[in-house]
Amino acid sequence: MTEKPKKLVFATNNLHKLEEIRSLAGDKFIICSLAEIGCHEDIPETADTIRDNAIMKARYVAEKYGVDCFADDTGLEVATLGGAPGVHTARYASEQGHDTMANMKLLLRNMENAADRSARFVTWIALVEGGEVTTFEGVCNGTILEAMEGEGGFGYDPVFRPDGFDVTFASMTGEQKNEVSHRGKATRKLIDYLAAK
Ligand code: IMP
Repeated sequence: MTEKPKKLVFATNNLHKLEEIRSLAGDKFIICSLAEIGCHEDIPETADTIRDNAIMKARYVAEKYGVDCFADDTGLEVATLGGAPGVHTARYASEQGHDTMANMKLLLRNMENAADRSARFVTWIALVEGGEVTTFEGVCNGTILEAMEGEGGFGYDPVFRPDGFDVTFASMTGEQKNEVSHRGKATRKLIDYLAAK
């Protein structure tokens, strides 16, 4: 008898993230979005760290909807800013959040004349399975440029140049970025963990 694919909810409605993980997960897992389980609410992410935010989101959905679930959270940590924006990455320029252009402009302004431009993206993925929490980390080290470069990507991609490359994330293809990115690394750890079960 063939084993039934395991169903897991990804606590997101971001289609790009869903497609990415579905292509990596193959046919051993069925990955559902929040919309597919009838969840249309804003999931709380008010923790003090990126890892705890991922855990908070995954736990919330797992407990409220009675499903196995994973969630991700990402932050940009800039050395000369003492690790900021960190857990505030999405809402750096305004509490209303998600104004990408305002976030990048504020970052460049706060880093004017900074000699040390090193930074890293960090993604944490939290998996809640049968009530048990397991976490996976992905890190991508790089440099914040002095001006935006490149047309593609999203978020802070035009100002972040990953180590080992001479272009920003915004000038790389999706596949190139996935190979080296924080989220690509954390996602592959999750997939390897699930596949080994
Ligand atoms: P989220 O946790 O994926 O919602 O991301 C939090 C914040 O980090 C948002 O402001 C995103 O735009 C930004 N962000 C996350 N991943 C990336 C990336 O790969 N490149 C650039 N910005 C990112």
